[in-house]
This record gives sequence, structure tokens and C-alpha cells, in this order.
Amino acid sequence: MSDNDRPDLINPMTEYPAPPFPEQPQPWPGLQSKMRPIPDCGETSYRGSGRLAGQRALITGGDSGIGRAVAIAFAREGADVAINYLPAEQSDADEVLNLIRDAGRTAVGLPGDIREEAFCKQLVADAVTQLGGIDTFVNCAGRQHYARHIEELSTEDFDWTLKTNLYALFWLIKAAVPHLKPGSSIIATTSRNAYQPIDILIDYALTKAGIANMVRGLGKQLLPQGIRVNGVAPGPFWTPLQVCGAQPQSVVAEFGADVVYKRPGQPVEIAPVYVTLASPEASYVTAQIWGITGGNGVPG
Ligand code: NAD
Ligand code: MG
Repeated sequence: MSDNDRPDLINPMTEYPAPPFPEQPQPWPGLQSKMRPIPDCGETSYRGSGRLAGQRALITGGDSGIGRAVAIAFAREGADVAINYLPAEQSDADEVLNLIRDAGRTAVGLPGDIREEAFCKQLVADAVTQLGGIDTFVNCAGRQHYARHIEELSTEDFDWTLKTNLYALFWLIKAAVPHLKPGSSIIATTSRNAYQPIDILIDYALTKAGIANMVRGLGKQLLPQGIRVNGVAPGPFWTPLQVCGAQPQSVVAEFGADVVYKRPGQPVEIAPVYVTLASPEASYVTAQIWGITGGNGVPG
């Protein structure tokens, strides 16, 4: 083989932006269209190969960041996709819905707040009606808000984080399971913080540990019904969540510098993991957490 025949190889360490990043505070929940640089969710790069042909997926947090990259990848792999997001994120969501349609798939936008059980039930019911059923449920919605000291962590904030990250996951899975046929799967998003909690994210980290634990237990419980349950544990990824209160702005400026890559991941770099977990090729994979943490080996 001559050098001219080799594929175009790209060094992954330098492939995407590295810190320093500009400080860029946004009000919660943040818009990715206003970030600098704008996160890469595969809009122009992700190429599918029919790995999820005919699947019907409900993805929470599908407007931006990791959930957006998953929604784009799923559609290009042949899935019809419903996304949930907050009404304030409609402009980000509209871009995703257009990209799903551009891929030739059905796109359904279902805005609303998952901190309410009644809405979670309605969300699943609407996805089932509009997609004609669901085979994959992916939870990417999440709330992360730092507090430097436990005395600064209000009960309201603690409750907000637990409602978004844990209660909603419970309500959504409970509503989805009756619709999931053998061969279906559930994918939840946990975090490196489930294993190595940092000191200013006590409430967030405990929810992510809870999600990882739920994945392991539910995976065992639901496999007899033919439903696989897995989790993805991201390290630092460049998403709106990070610039609207998840971290102090000084951490945003150096975001990703602490991992082996010395840069954050871009959402497009984690979407293939969700695709693989949802695909029928992962038939023997359940109750597992797949860590994509920037080379730091968590979970180990
Ligand atoms: P993101 O801000 O793009 O996505 C989070 C989404 O959560 C928002 O777009 C919003 O639609 C949704 N959401 C929040 N509260 C909601 C509510 N009450 N009702 C409905 N939707 C709500 O950020 P992201 O980083 O892509 O986050 C996706 C997931 O990845 C989250 O669970 C997050 O905890 C997890 N995660 C992210 C990182 C990272 O470094 N970015 C690291 C580890 C884990
Ligand atoms: Mg968003």
C-alpha cells in the first residue's frame, strides 16, 4: 500500500477545539446556537449506514449537545425520531427536526418539562402515537448546577436536580416499558461524576450515581422481557449545559484541560456509542455503563 492509498487519518487530540474558550454565560437552559465555538453534533459530518433501520426512538434533551448528536445520528442510521426539550429551546430543536427530515425520517418535536409526572406520561404517549410505537428510549435530559458549599445548596435546587435527573427517568421508563417489545432498548446518560464526584456538584453527582445503579438493576429486571438497558458515562463534552450554570465560567474557559485529550469531547464523538447500544448488533449488551471520559479510564 502506498501512502496515497491510505485513508485520511486525523489526530484525535487536535481534531476539535481545545481550551482556552471564551467565557460565555447564558441563562438556563442555554442555546447551543449562541455558543462559541458552536458544538459539533455531526450536522455536516455524521454518515449513517442503516444500523437502526426502521427503529422509532424517543430522545429527551434532543435539541442540543449530546442528545442532539444522538438524534441526528439515529435519523441518519434510519430511525424515526421524537425529541423532547424545553419550550425555551424551540429554536435549537427546530434545527434538529429539520435535520431529521433531511435524512428522510419522521421528526416529532414534543416540548415540555419532565419534572412533572403527568407530562412524562403524556410525552411517552404522544411519541407512541406519532411514531406508531417506540423501540428505543434515550434519556439525555439533565440538570447540572454547581454549589460551592452544602450550605449554599438550597432544597429547591436539590429537588430540581433530583426531579430532572432521577424522578423523570423513573417516570419515563415506567411509561415506556409497556410499549417496548423484545429487542427494544433503553439508554440512560450518567457521568464520570457517578464514579469520581467533584466537590461542587454534590446533588448532580449523586443523581448520576443513581442512574448508573438503576441501569445495572433494571438491566437485570427487564432482560427477561427482551429489553436491554445500558448507560453512557460522558467526561467533559462541549454543550450548552456547561455554560449556563453547571460550572463557574473560569472552569468553562479551561473546559477539558484536565483530561488526557486536553480538550472536551464534541457531541458527535459520543453519538456512535448510543448508536451501537441501540443497534441489534449489541444484542448481548445490557446492564453496562460505557465510559467516554477523555482518556481517563472511568468507569474502570
Ligand atoms: P444540553 O444542555 O445540551 O442538554 C441537556 C438537555 O436537558 C437540555 O437541552 C434540555 O432540553 C434538557 N432538560 C433539562 N431540564 C429539563 C426539564 N426540566 N424538562 C425537559 N428537558 C430538560 O447538555 P448535554 O451536556 O448534552 O447534556 C446531556 C446529558 O449529558 C445530561 O444528562 C448531562 O448530565 C450529561 N452529561 C454531560 C456532560 C458534559 O460534559 N456535557 C458530562 C457528563 C454527563
Ligand atoms: Mg438544550
